[in-house]
Amino acid sequence: MLETIRKGVLKKGVVTDRYPYVPYMPYDGHLGMPMVDEAKCTSDKVCEQVCPTTAIRFAPGQLSIDLGLCIFCGECARRCPHQAIIMSKEFELASKRREGLVRFYVVQQ
Ligand code: SF4
Repeated sequence: MLETIRKGVLKKGVVTDRYPYVPYMPYDGHLGMPMVDEAKCTSDKVCEQVCPTTAIRFAPGQLSIDLGLCIFCGECARRCPHQAIIMSKEFELASKRREGLVRFYVVQQ
């Protein structure tokens, strides 16, 4: 019995990912950081209206996404009529300061 467990049931060696020593590739469908294509954005504010956490804010000529509020639901990307927002695979978003979690984009007014 013990020999069976040793040979077949218990795996030997590394069975987990070696991240961060080896880059981790997110699986298909992973929803990482939302990113804005500034050239496509028309400032119609649909994303701001559908965001459930108020992570998206518009100011004149500027759009910001607060990744500290974002829950990575992808609703902004799904509902943008211009496909100006995509859910990237980027997941390494840590910051030592709260302000470092806010991404700013220059958009049309
Ligand atoms: S992914 Fe969801 S929570 Fe994050 S900015 Fe888009 S709509 Fe808001």
